[in-house]
Amino acid sequence: MTETTLGVKGHCAHCDITFALKPWQLNAIALNEPFDCPYCHKVLQLNCPRQLRQLKSLDNLALLRPSMLVLTCVALLVALVVEWVGLISRIGQLNVSLVAILIHFLTLRHARHRHRMTLTLQAVNPIIERPVEQFAGVAGARFGQR
Ligand SMILES: [Zn+2]
Repeated sequence: MTETTLGVKGHCAHCDITFALKPWQLNAIALNEPFDCPYCHKVLQLNCPRQLRQLKSLDNLALLRPSMLVLTCVALLVALVVEWVGLISRIGQLNVSLVAILIHFLTLRHARHRHRMTLTLQAVNPIIERPVEQFAGVAGARFGQR
């Protein structure tokens, strides 16, 4: 995932530790795949549909920055042209430009604020163990017998 997701934190409901989520962990959460807590090694999963929706909407926010930049540039250009044609005064053009820049920064600030979220991860009982882990467990047991 992109840099925009790096502000997302996870809170382990079992050991009560909040930690920054790595991109692969975010991917796992987005796919509803359980993963191990880095501290207590319990299998964690996001059970809150609201937080899951919030997380998935981050992908849309990643597109917000470039599209806002284009939008602001267009607004500034339009203000310039309208002033040049003579529809608004120079002061009017300045005002329109300032408002466009203000909206630009407010939107990005709001987006950044939304990125700073903490997901509450519940410990779940792994009903179906992943085959790789089972294999590793069996191999480890056999290795220990020797
Ligand atoms: Zn934990």
